[in-house]
Amino acid sequence: MAFSAEFRCIAGCAGGYPLEQVIYRCPTCGDLLEVVHDLTALRERSHAQWKDLFGQRWRQVEEPFGSGVWGKHEWVAPQLESQNIVSMLEGGTHLTRVPRFAADLGLGDVRVKQCGTSHSGSFKDLGMTVLVSMVKQMIARGQPLKAIACASTGDTSAALAAYAAAAGIRSVVILPRGKISTAQLVQPLAMGSLVLAVDTDFDGCMTLVQELASKEGVYLANSMNSLRLEGQKTVAIEIAQQLGWQVPDWVVIPGGNLGNVSALGAGFEMLLALGLVDKRPRICVAQAAHASPLATSFQKGWSELEPVKAKTTLASAIQIGNPVSFKKAVRALKAFDGVALAVSEAELADASAHADRDGLFTDPHTGVALAALTKLAARGEITRDQRVIVISTASGLKFADFKVGYHEGTLAEAKAPRYRNTPVELPPRYDAVREALLRGLD
Ligand SMILES: *Cc1c(COP(=O)(O)O)cnc(C)c1O
Ligand SMILES: [Zn+2]
Repeated sequence: MAFSAEFRCIAGCAGGYPLEQVIYRCPTCGDLLEVVHDLTALRERSHAQWKDLFGQRWRQVEEPFGSGVWGKHEWVAPQLESQNIVSMLEGGTHLTRVPRFAADLGLGDVRVKQCGTSHSGSFKDLGMTVLVSMVKQMIARGQPLKAIACASTGDTSAALAAYAAAAGIRSVVILPRGKISTAQLVQPLAMGSLVLAVDTDFDGCMTLVQELASKEGVYLANSMNSLRLEGQKTVAIEIAQQLGWQVPDWVVIPGGNLGNVSALGAGFEMLLALGLVDKRPRICVAQAAHASPLATSFQKGWSELEPVKAKTTLASAIQIGNPVSFKKAVRALKAFDGVALAVSEAELADASAHADRDGLFTDPHTGVALAALTKLAARGEITRDQRVIVISTASGLKFADFKVGYHEGTLAEAKAPRYRNTPVELPPRYDAVREALLRGLD
């Protein structure tokens, strides 16, 4: 059976382009491209056959099918040959229940999809395995590509560096000099990326990397590249699979450039189109108030994007004022009866610490989603009988300063931390330790 997919313009211009072509935007109108699958071919297998196949592959030993992304190979990048797949067992992540957090909010079944439990510590791995594998195939077939480049500060560059190194392909990370912390830089440096620190801002880096991509045989890994969304789309498929091929009532997801919510929508659309599920969840995109153009558009009935200058936020990966995938995201949110909400810095910090009490170790972006859920529950928009999935996008271990600052009480953004926990300092005497124990466990 010949499954296939190609790039097409999201504005509907004629023409399709192979996934192996170096093309990032529609040559007719300049709009974004999306990957469109031949659903007729995929329908030659019944929904029961797909469910069986995905069930057999789930976390299995044989590579690369044990990967959550490559277990769905035919739905992701069907023309990619197995020998070109660069995988580090991404995906297949846990849906963790947070019963005490849920009860405090007056909710019932709330689970967190742990997409940050991944090789480089964020969900960006899910997309990067697809993009780097495709470049490996392009190079194997003789395309003269020297390297893969991106202009990211944090999680994208870490994922790119890891997968490119694993593939034996050079990677280039272009950053604004002096504006990036060592913690954000250390993954690409350790993995041997060529890191170019340029005296400009993030937008300046973006312009430079696009020029390099058009002139120098460097492949662009930034999020206008819709290959990444095909990998990220598997999060929706996994959620349905983990719920016994049911969809939840709500999915809450943090959004910056809005590629991930577009991917989530695309995943649920594909499940519906191929008959594996028969219902749509509602989707909430959560934004930091300091960078919330989507939430503003929602308040105005999904008005046109008005780019803003994003202010500093603890959720640094979503500090984006002019989201690339705005149109794709609004299209998805309209189809899924979606909403978009903004939360403050103190709210995201408290919500993150609150959910940690169920055994998580959440990053600030997941905190944004948890804070939005807190608001929706308080307003009665989500109720106790509804099942909710919160998408966690990164590992809290990548954001140690945020966690330490919160519990030390030194975080300027959260001056009155509600879930602060500090060590009890004691003299080396049994009675003192015992008394502290009894008081502490009271
Ligand atoms: C990239 C990123 C996001 C935002 O995803 P978009 O596709 O840009 O909306 C959220 N959280 C983390 C940790 C990220 O790295
Ligand atoms: Zn077009």
